[in-house]
Amino acid sequence: MKLYGKDSLKRRLDDIAKCGRLPHAVMFSGTPGCGRKIMARYTAQLFLCGNVGDNGPCGECAACRNVEHDNHPDVIFVKRECGGKYAMEPLRAALRGTVIKPISGSVRVYIFEDCGDMETLHLNTLLKVIEEPPEHLRFIFTCENTSVIPETVMSRVTAFEVGATSEEDCKRYLCDNGAEPSRAEELSAAFSGNIEKCLKALEQDDDDKKTDELALLKTAQAAAAAIGRRDGFSAAAALSSQRGYSDLAEVMGYLANIVRDALALKVGEPAEFFGKEEARAIAAAFSQEEIVNMLNVLFEVEKNEIFNISTSLTAAYFTSKIM
Ligand SMILES: [Zn+2]
Repeated sequence: MKLYGKDSLKRRLDDIAKCGRLPHAVMFSGTPGCGRKIMARYTAQLFLCGNVGDNGPCGECAACRNVEHDNHPDVIFVKRECGGKYAMEPLRAALRGTVIKPISGSVRVYIFEDCGDMETLHLNTLLKVIEEPPEHLRFIFTCENTSVIPETVMSRVTAFEVGATSEEDCKRYLCDNGAEPSRAEELSAAFSGNIEKCLKALEQDDDDKKTDELALLKTAQAAAAAIGRRDGFSAAAALSSQRGYSDLAEVMGYLANIVRDALALKVGEPAEFFGKEEARAIAAAFSQEEIVNMLNVLFEVEKNEIFNISTSLTAAYFTSKIM
């Protein structure tokens, strides 16, 4: 498991684990997004890996790989409900499971996330097992701030503070996970190295792109519908409404698919792309020769850089050539 910017904490844990002195209950605290969850999983690897060495868990054995991919049968995540609260029943169910002996490892590891949000009743229930834990159990807790955790619990766990990730480490993480370097740099600076917030922003980027893509597809469909009605003015208006040439080029690409479908329909083959209705209208309104001409004009526009100058010029040229 690759950790980013957690070198000193990792070294401390590795050293303790190497001597076989990893405590049976640990608590990771720190601000949301600082990496508490990954430290919890890393510690689960330390508990379960059969080849812990100077550099911590080997990362290659079945136990390490299963923990990393969240499918180790002896690692139990106890999470909050959707509303952000812990419910009593799942917690009780988890605790009832503590009598089960490890399935594939030597110990069973319970990870309780965000236990600062647990009510006293929940914490007291937990206390019973961590006070005198059976030999085969290990507990990992995470919280934002240890000051809200009762002393009775804190006195039974070994606490580690997870520091913030530096902007540089955050950027490295984002780039390693497929982000554009410039966007990674921008986000790590904006969110001061908070990986979780950066990932949320990247997800938003992807969503925005999807919406854009759909908008472009719809524009192509609108232009195709206008062409099917032999309404050159509306077709040009739809095409020239694009923000820039790259958007227009993409709309033209989608439009070419619809026109190609119209040609397919003309020769008795089925339509394949988005905008089949529009393809049928074009096939009905134009001759085969006219449709081939449309395709040629579309390819011409796509190849000719002169159209980079203006989207309205391109739209006007295209519609005048095909109508
Ligand atoms: Zn291992």
